[in-house]
Amino acid sequence: MDAIEEEVNRTGFRLWAPGFGLQALASIFAFADEFGKVDTVPAFFCTLRGSGSLRFDRMIGLGIAAGAALVSVGYQSMAPTGSWFGQAFHGLPRGSKQIALTFDDGPNDPYTLNLLDVLSKHDIRATFFLIGRYVRHRPQIVQEIAKRGHVVGNHTFTHPLLIFQSGSAIRQQILQCRDAIREAVGEHSNLFRPPWGGRRPAVFQIVRQLGLEPAMWNVTGYDWNASSADYIEKKVRDKIRGGSVILLHDGSHAAFGADRSKTVRAVDRLIERYKAEGLDFVTVPDMMRRNQGVIPNAAS
Ligand SMILES: [Zn+2]
Repeated sequence: MDAIEEEVNRTGFRLWAPGFGLQALASIFAFADEFGKVDTVPAFFCTLRGSGSLRFDRMIGLGIAAGAALVSVGYQSMAPTGSWFGQAFHGLPRGSKQIALTFDDGPNDPYTLNLLDVLSKHDIRATFFLIGRYVRHRPQIVQEIAKRGHVVGNHTFTHPLLIFQSGSAIRQQILQCRDAIREAVGEHSNLFRPPWGGRRPAVFQIVRQLGLEPAMWNVTGYDWNASSADYIEKKVRDKIRGGSVILLHDGSHAAFGADRSKTVRAVDRLIERYKAEGLDFVTVPDMMRRNQGVIPNAAS
């Protein structure tokens, strides 16, 4: 991970950094999505503000000329519910009684196991989108996830932003992660979630060619940079409704061992609250079965 990416994680965006390049361009998109939902106005403002140091020769390479177009395309390339670059499941229609908790960027020690204990305490199942290199590092944690009946999905091998990867690199990322998970727990679900939700049209095409199904989300917990468990809880509560797929993190793409204790605490409280309100916590495959008869391979 480089310094700009680190900055993206910390602040959501930074356009005036020296050496600003494609990574930072990605951060505009990132700000408009996993790092903040539908904020096209600030994203556009940032585009203008950063234009002095933008490297337009490289932007032309992306086929993006105008700031507004940049924001739209950027938003759609990162938005979990955007459909320009391919349809993907991101939740059930409003009114459903189901909620799906999803955890990205694990396995992670000790927070994945802590989270599993919380989920066991409430007797609910969730969906984990794993980073292949961490799976290789700690397959025992993945085995524990599977043993407790949770669903395991593919989140690439090293968590690159796929917008900027070649077709063969995208394929490689997905297959390497699939192999790592297979070696750890055998056959698992066919779910795939792109890092940061980032994609271009080829991404979902390749995903489906490989027999996988993209799984996005429609509620973001903003837990990668949260000051407290309360903050995460509030972010989820602001957006949650029946049918939500909630994005949280038991790990971090930046480093193995990242502190996710706040997420673990927030999840405990969220489950308590919404179970009491009569909502049913299910896995993403459970939810997909309710949605237009799309039936992915359930984890076994
Ligand atoms: Zn991720």
